[in-house]
Amino acid sequence: MSDDRQKERLKELLMKPENAVCADCGSPDVQWASINLGVFICIVCAGVHRHLGVHISRVKSTNLDSWKETEVEMMEQSNNAKSNREIYENTLPKDFIKPTFGDSIGLKEQWIIAKYLNKSFTPPDTKDAKRINFDVKEGWITKKGEVVKSWKKRWLRLVDGEYLYYYKGTTDKVECGTISLRESGQIDSVSEVDSKPYCFIISTPKRRYLISCNTGEEMFRWIQILRQCASQLSKQPQQQQ
Ligand SMILES: [Zn+2]
Repeated sequence: MSDDRQKERLKELLMKPENAVCADCGSPDVQWASINLGVFICIVCAGVHRHLGVHISRVKSTNLDSWKETEVEMMEQSNNAKSNREIYENTLPKDFIKPTFGDSIGLKEQWIIAKYLNKSFTPPDTKDAKRINFDVKEGWITKKGEVVKSWKKRWLRLVDGEYLYYYKGTTDKVECGTISLRESGQIDSVSEVDSKPYCFIISTPKRRYLISCNTGEEMFRWIQILRQCASQLSKQPQQQQ
């Protein structure tokens, strides 16, 4: 009886426009919640939250699990839009492209880790916040060769917001190759390839590049930076020859 009442209250909360979409990926299918973080999420993001552990996120289904009155009250104190605006996405960079439900699980994972575990986008005075420096546009990666399919350590550098050069060394003048982002298609994480962690792909009309990063955060940073560039380039008209 009491549980029915709590379910009713949760249903009312989910009807609010502020809770219409998943707090993390924007999916319209919202049936889960993180009680301690105070956000409603979709089943996919709920899986990622659960993976972080209950010390970070306590996940419950809004219709399958039973709820205490105090837990529902906690959810009533905020809503997705407000939590994101005032806390978890408060300091998102201006041009940030938020991952969506169509993106890979690997990218969602890093996004959710950045948001809640590292508190990367919380208000400026937040203690223990681990920020991501999106202004760093170079770093070590390993890249899978096209002809010889081995992984090679390369120094990756974004130039002019359009070209990704890769070098053998950080001070090399001559690059091993260039990736143009102007006609790039998909830029997203992919599941482990050849036991390499934190892999992502850049699809171009010529070729599909496969890159592995040292950490999830580096992969997240690269994907975000490259997506921003690709988005900017797609808005610019093609230069006339
Ligand atoms: Zn979601």
